[in-house]
Amino acid sequence: MTKSVVVIGASHAGTALAETLRRKGWEGDIVVLDRLSGPPVERPPLSKKALHPEWESDDNLLKALQWFQDHNVDFRDGVSASAIDRAQKVLRLEGGETIPYDHLAIATGAFPRQLPGPGAELEGVLYLRTVVDAVQMQKEVGNAQKIVVVGGGYIGLEAAACLAEMGKDVTVIEYAPRLLARVATEPMSRFFEEMHRNHGVTVLTGEGTSELRGDGRVHTVVTNKGREIAADLVLVGIGVIPETQMAEDAGLEVDNGILVNRYCQTNDPDIYAIGDVARREGSPGGLRIESIHNAQFTAVKVADHILGLDLGKEELPWFWSEQYGHRLQSAGVAVNWDDVIWRAEDKAESGSAWTFLGDELVMVEAFNQVQAFMVGKRLMEMGKSPAKADLADPEVPLKSLLKR
Ligand code: NAP
Repeated sequence: MTKSVVVIGASHAGTALAETLRRKGWEGDIVVLDRLSGPPVERPPLSKKALHPEWESDDNLLKALQWFQDHNVDFRDGVSASAIDRAQKVLRLEGGETIPYDHLAIATGAFPRQLPGPGAELEGVLYLRTVVDAVQMQKEVGNAQKIVVVGGGYIGLEAAACLAEMGKDVTVIEYAPRLLARVATEPMSRFFEEMHRNHGVTVLTGEGTSELRGDGRVHTVVTNKGREIAADLVLVGIGVIPETQMAEDAGLEVDNGILVNRYCQTNDPDIYAIGDVARREGSPGGLRIESIHNAQFTAVKVADHILGLDLGKEELPWFWSEQYGHRLQSAGVAVNWDDVIWRAEDKAESGSAWTFLGDELVMVEAFNQVQAFMVGKRLMEMGKSPAKADLADPEVPLKSLLKR
């Protein structure tokens, strides 16, 4: 009898799983469902070019509907799963229908953390996660001049850069003492802070919101230091929470993400979890990794396991961001560190930060420096760490570090 793989969630992880299964020869059924309507859209543009009025979601499809047809993948959009019946091995949908599975993959991602405090429900307070959010934001940006961005993570900063370039009056409020605190080292945070200030953005760090005021629609943001900032629009990007409820209800192990082994299997061997929702055994620092690369990497692990292939090699997590036409790329995750070496390059506006724990290189961050990113990533993949003195010496070519 034909076996089936059912995938809940059609974003980067879910579609990568369907694609990898077909590419590697899975001949059984594949059902991919998503509660959003329409073909899946790539997420990186949503906090960047999607804010411009000329952007349309069709410009950045993750998969066109035709792709699902051509690859015999049953894609069901606008369909919400409501429960997993592990005893019967069926997925229950809202509305009562059931879909039987041999293998189930949960790729439900994460949802934006909601802003606490009074006034958070006012009109003009927006989040950016889905294409629906981006379209709403795009509509509202046209009529807004003063925009407050709450959260100085990737979403907040990418959007702030875009909005500043559109001539908006932008203020970023970040709780932590520095921007990108969760994902970047201190020198890189300072570098980004200066870059935003140079583009006219007001950056407030070590400050949060205590209240939003408005009359139906938001007009003022009040910070916990008592500062009042006029706002036509507020964009909130204060992190995400993994979408684990259905897994928990089904008795799967959850602890800041669905716990999975290296094959991304949950404590039920027929159920996998991938992408932002999963916390995989052996991940750096035991963290739940939120990135496109991780979505694709974990999807491949599941496809290989279903197909009976070897686990394959581990990959280092990597990330990228684009702001004001500049590119930040980082590889590795620094959970603990004691030294960061900043390597300036002779080219203006480029450089790299190399993070060490003892003598071990644990992360590289490269600003407009593809070579530093490539060399650092390669070194860590080979289990090698460069000498700090070599790194700090601009006369030592980066490439030569691979051979030393
Ligand atoms: P994020 O990276 O977790 O950053 C959110 C920041 O907001 C954190 O520094 C957080 O500080 C701060 N914060 C929390 N509550 C706050 C408050 N009340 N007031 C002010 N600041 C507050 O999350 P994000 O930027 O919202 O991004 C969401 C997800 O999208 C992440 O998974 C991110 O990786 C992904 N994304 C990635 C990219 C990319 O890779 N280029 C681009 C866009 C989005 P604490 O940590 O102290 O709570």
